[in-house]
Amino acid sequence: MSIQERTYIGELASSVGKEVKIMGWVDVRRDQGKLIFFDFRDMTGYVQGVILPAAIEAHAVGEKIRPEYVVEVVGKVNQRPEKNVQKEKQNGDIELEILAITILNEAETPPFDVRSDGLEINEEVRLKYRYLDLRRPRLKRNLKLRSDFIELARQFLFKKGFTEVETPALSAPTPEGSRDFIVPARLQPGKFFALPQSPQQYKQLLMVGGLEKYFQIARCFRDEDLRADRGFEHTQIDIEMSFVELKDVMALDEEMITSIVEGLGFKIKQKPFPIFTYQEAMEKFGADKFDLRSEEDKQNGILAYAWVIDFPFFEKDKEGNWTFTHNPFSMPKKEHIEWLLKGERIGEIITNQYDLVCNGLEVGGGSIRAHKPEILEAVFRVMGYDDEKIQEQFGHMLQAFKYGAPPHGGIAHGIERNIMNLAGETYLREVQAFPQTSSGRTSVMDAPSVVDKKQLDELGIKVVESAKEKKEDKK
Ligand code: ASP
Repeated sequence: MSIQERTYIGELASSVGKEVKIMGWVDVRRDQGKLIFFDFRDMTGYVQGVILPAAIEAHAVGEKIRPEYVVEVVGKVNQRPEKNVQKEKQNGDIELEILAITILNEAETPPFDVRSDGLEINEEVRLKYRYLDLRRPRLKRNLKLRSDFIELARQFLFKKGFTEVETPALSAPTPEGSRDFIVPARLQPGKFFALPQSPQQYKQLLMVGGLEKYFQIARCFRDEDLRADRGFEHTQIDIEMSFVELKDVMALDEEMITSIVEGLGFKIKQKPFPIFTYQEAMEKFGADKFDLRSEEDKQNGILAYAWVIDFPFFEKDKEGNWTFTHNPFSMPKKEHIEWLLKGERIGEIITNQYDLVCNGLEVGGGSIRAHKPEILEAVFRVMGYDDEKIQEQFGHMLQAFKYGAPPHGGIAHGIERNIMNLAGETYLREVQAFPQTSSGRTSVMDAPSVVDKKQLDELGIKVVESAKEKKEDKK
């Protein structure tokens, strides 16, 4: 057979009556003796193929083939007789009459079924063999949805004149209320970088730099206890704009989210998105994230967005000290700036923060920022930082704000939570290609793991045996 071009399975419907070549995996094989049936799979979908008794060579190869073998198939695309049409199936009205089949690679029997939705399989096993797990249609669909979501976000933001800028992954800590992941610095033994919990400070510095409209598809690292909707790593659509007020950022963001989700074919319950103050939300729903959908909306896959605004800037932590509720870099309401500067009525200060809620999840959040050094400094003073600590940790921001920092604000959207809503998934790991296990280990590869002593010596690091390990050694 001398067909050169590969045809994707998803395009076979337009090749009825023609000879084609496909490549992909064997999804199912049904050997009926004289006839051998297959379901073949590539990235575009599924098609049934059959080896008829007359195709003697193909038959001999077909007998050896098992599920998940990688094959190249040359065949004729036939219309199925009316009685054999399976309307609900992709390519259910055609069948590939196999003329030649070549094994491109064999496959051992996979440790689990890759055709089910996979939810019944133990998580550790699924993630150990994630490359097989990804073969299931549900995960492929989720990753495609994620990719389409990002593509539409990029399209929208570029059309609005935004510049995509990458910011460093090796950096100084930026507080988002989590623990930092830290990375030892070989050239300065005993010193450490932090992986960003978000690009917050850099995006504000880009505003000082005059970029005016920034965005980034940004990876964020937060060392926190893992939950269904939380991983060590997540990705944000991170946005910052200059010369804007709260209503401007909210309007742009609402337009972006609407254009993305409607572009993907989803329906939004209410437009413009309803706005609740934090107080209203607490009174009405008892929480600042809530689900506005009716039972019927849930069956129809409706997205119910709402904004929450007017959050308290500070709250007391467990030790009774003031800490920020959302973002220390935010600007208080105009009429409350005076209180902040004087250190008065701290609990009553309202921040220019806005959170976007959808179907019970917080899917985005941002604020108008303090662009004057004395306001930012006052925030850290309320939180009990002395001058030295403020200078040490945030001196660079205070310095930058002395050189004509424009008023600015922004927002970020956790991509995973947004995709979870769209895909109807409960777990973050279902919308990430290689997520961590719930015990905090990587998929497929074995990390975290021990490193060579030589590597540690270079870094000037000594691992001290924990009390637990010592105890175990003695046993
Ligand atoms: N940096 C914030 C976050 O990661 C978002 C923002 O305020 O723009 O939640």
